[in-house]
Amino acid sequence: MGHWIDKNAAWYDQTMTYCACCGLVIPSGYWEAEVRGEALIFCKSDCERLYREHRLVEGDENETV
Ligand SMILES: [Zn+2]
Repeated sequence: MGHWIDKNAAWYDQTMTYCACCGLVIPSGYWEAEVRGEALIFCKSDCERLYREHRLVEGDENETV
């Protein structure tokens, strides 16, 4: 499961951050979750769930975003 992170207190504060699921620009805090050993950023926990469901259905290892 993922966890919530306060972007304001992180080193990547100056970098544009996008949700790995829906592509939304994340202005402040975000949801970070580990998917297949990789830390991914989501705008909310629901996006993590959608991302996992999508990946399970697709069975695709390729990163296209
Ligand atoms: Zn999202």
